[in-house]
Amino acid sequence: MDKPVYVTKPYLPPFDEFVEGLKEIWDSNILTNMGPIHNRLASKLQEYLKVNQIALILNGHLALEIGIQTLGLKGEVITTPFTFASTTHALVRNGIKPVFCDINPEDYNIDCSKIESLISEKTTAIMPVHVYGTPCDVDTLDKIAKKYNLQVFYDSAHAFGVEINDTGIGNFGDMSMFSFHATKVYNTIEGGCLTFTNTDYERIIYLLKNFGIAGPEDVLLTGTNAKMNEFQALMGLLNLNHVSEEIVLRKQKVQLYRDNLSDISGLELLPVPKNQVKSNYAYFPILIGDKYGISRDDLAEVLQKHNIYPRKYFYPLVTEFTCYKGMFSAETPIAKDVASRVLCLPIWGDIPDETILKICMIIREKR
Ligand SMILES: *Cc1c(COP(=O)(O)O)cnc(C)c1O
Repeated sequence: MDKPVYVTKPYLPPFDEFVEGLKEIWDSNILTNMGPIHNRLASKLQEYLKVNQIALILNGHLALEIGIQTLGLKGEVITTPFTFASTTHALVRNGIKPVFCDINPEDYNIDCSKIESLISEKTTAIMPVHVYGTPCDVDTLDKIAKKYNLQVFYDSAHAFGVEINDTGIGNFGDMSMFSFHATKVYNTIEGGCLTFTNTDYERIIYLLKNFGIAGPEDVLLTGTNAKMNEFQALMGLLNLNHVSEEIVLRKQKVQLYRDNLSDISGLELLPVPKNQVKSNYAYFPILIGDKYGISRDDLAEVLQKHNIYPRKYFYPLVTEFTCYKGMFSAETPIAKDVASRVLCLPIWGDIPDETILKICMIIREKR
């Protein structure tokens, strides 16, 4: 390829739309602190995600931390090592011990059959991740949580717009976090949100994201600063007008990959979403098996020679990072195996078909 092809390309609205939108900020002179654009975006996103309540946050990671604090999690939380560092960091940075559960080999989400044996007196919650936007087994997680009186906080960073039977994915569990980072299906440059049903949480989150300030003369909580500003919110409002169309395009690109890769021996593709699931086609991971002939790392190198840069999401496992190595006992053989064989191929709405066909041909010929 003449130009490098990365794993994704941030979605930008038409330039003129953004410039036009900036006028409102210059007119209002409000740059941040829950301004009018922020509030408009919050209500539009609440509608789009089909959730009862939403709080916009500066970025997804701080949304996770604020969510943990709002839910009052402590002690131990059962989670997955097959995720982005953020999920684990959010727990550890809040004094919580992550307890790592293995994933299932079908869709790489937390293996619900292995959760109960990890529950201890100190367990307060389960923090699963809807990996690649594929919904976790929300019904089983709900049952386990009820049985042991645990909270469930979903890392839905990958799952923007995903629905199960017309129910927004953000309605499951006690709370969900969405990331609006530039590399995600929907972005506000940096950004994120929390969704929840308990009406008490709205005020706590509002305080936590704004230093705990309750009024001009009092501070109620040891909060942080995690407010989404008006420029982010403007980007979000404009991108929201285009995101459904972006997801339709992604679906076509995923289909093109499938049509051209499904017969290659030794390659495993993510299962096609179940009928009742509305997917967002956020990622296109492939798993390299023995029968393929060359290793995942070798394939990544071959693609790089053609100026194509797929990503090994998620490799290494969180538990292998220098900051965590040897700290937590984790029996997660499936996660380890998947991490060693996975490769996420380039995907975004307007990636040219020829680029996908070229990638598929390189994968087929292994050179
Ligand atoms: C992107 C991501 C986050 C963090 O979100 P940011 O908006 O980048 O802070 C957390 N968890 C997962 C699984 C992610 O992919």
